[in-house]
Amino acid sequence: MSLAVVHSRALDALQAPEVTVEVHLANGLPSVTLVGLADTEVKEARERVRAALQNSGLEFPNNKRITVNLAPADLPKESGRFDLPIALGILAASGQIDAARLAQYEFAGELSLSGELRPVRGALAMALALHRSGAGSGRALVLPHASAQEAALACGMAGDMSSAMTGGLRIHGAAHLLDVVRALLPGDVEPADALPLAHAAPSPVREPGADLRDVKGQAAAKRALEIAATGGHSALMVGPPGTGKSMLAQRFAGLLPALTHDEALESAAVLSLTGAFSADRWAQRAFRSPHHTASPVALVGGGSPPRPGEISLSHHGVLFLDELPEFPRAALEGLREPLETGRIVISRAARQAEFPARFQLIAAMNPCPCGHQGSPLRACRCTPDVVARYQGRISGPLLDRIDVQVEVPAVPAAALAAAPDGEATEVIAARVSRARDRAMQRQGCANAALTGDALDRHCALDAAASKFLQAAAARLGWSARSFHRVLRVARSVADLAGSGPITVAHLAEAIQCRRVLSVG
Ligand SMILES: [Zn+2]
Repeated sequence: MSLAVVHSRALDALQAPEVTVEVHLANGLPSVTLVGLADTEVKEARERVRAALQNSGLEFPNNKRITVNLAPADLPKESGRFDLPIALGILAASGQIDAARLAQYEFAGELSLSGELRPVRGALAMALALHRSGAGSGRALVLPHASAQEAALACGMAGDMSSAMTGGLRIHGAAHLLDVVRALLPGDVEPADALPLAHAAPSPVREPGADLRDVKGQAAAKRALEIAATGGHSALMVGPPGTGKSMLAQRFAGLLPALTHDEALESAAVLSLTGAFSADRWAQRAFRSPHHTASPVALVGGGSPPRPGEISLSHHGVLFLDELPEFPRAALEGLREPLETGRIVISRAARQAEFPARFQLIAAMNPCPCGHQGSPLRACRCTPDVVARYQGRISGPLLDRIDVQVEVPAVPAAALAAAPDGEATEVIAARVSRARDRAMQRQGCANAALTGDALDRHCALDAAASKFLQAAAARLGWSARSFHRVLRVARSVADLAGSGPITVAHLAEAIQCRRVLSVG
């Protein structure tokens, strides 16, 4: 046998496309050639593989012409993830391991010079890709230990439901090249016995997050967040400093239902691309709150190779942008497309990378640079011009994509002290959950995602409601986009009320959830 084929996977944004590593040994001038658009790092693999084999007491065929082909040729193949497959290909082609057994596995792992396996990026993405490509291949995944534990999240953490869904995906962890080799020696030993199955750490006990009950007063803002959570609407809170905007935002994720297994996997897979995933955060909605000094690339994604930005790291979670007008204009404008599509396409040279970015935007801002415009407690020092410029930093098109807008006013201390305790997160979340279920059963998506025909169908109004909305639109000079936005929010209000039809009362509340800025 002088030709061996080993299965592996590349990492292309969140995709982990299959890569075939072919190793051919021939007589002739001794050499090692790597083909298939291998970059510098892959070429370094040649030296690592040689050292790892020799230091592990295995034979490197020094007297042969070795050709390694990574196919397909046009995939990005950064990092040392192909060290292990290349080493195994050489061993199989030179008859040191059983080539037939290789076919049952996919491998990835970087080798140290002594043959130890080092973790690879995006292990969870690989496991998901293998799972999605259909358990039809029946292949198991062999990864360095730490990577295998991460990838094993795809098979087990959520209990019984997931084992059915993952259809018997098997992931093995190995610490050293020799562990893998032992499992692939010709003979009677079953490979599965030589390589232990990897298990994800047990599901952590969910820590209850901070409770909305901690925020005194601000009933209107809490109601707006309840509506936003129900429909998946983005929300903007406007008010002076110290009124609880950040506290409210930090408690928002508590209103959202638990992640489904698939959502938990997608979220973890994106986080694992940057090493931001930790197993004790499994199945919890991401809450990201980048500072306003964050660059557009940090916020939206980019770089080479392309990395996900905050909007992707908060996939299926909450992206909180405090002091919204202070963010760079380019960063804010970069939010527009993903807010519509739930994904971001990053173009670099000839390649495109796509990351999921279905985040829920919760933004907060002061009404003016000094922060006190409209406050009964302190006088605002800003001229109308200055206020207009400040609010104008949020472009109309971006504002148009924020369905729910609410004022979070300053409240005198005495009034605050007298305010009754608000509802607990748990109570509001239960209402949100029922309303969301209603929407999903009716239309299969969140209300914020309703467009076109589906919007017309599920937000149909009777004559009285229609007349009311038309009058409001004419009076306030709405664009078609604003009109649709109010309809979607009204749908969420109706769902919270358990109502099929959208009534005038639902519309009236939806109309209140916008136009909080004095300009724009
Ligand atoms: Zn001011």
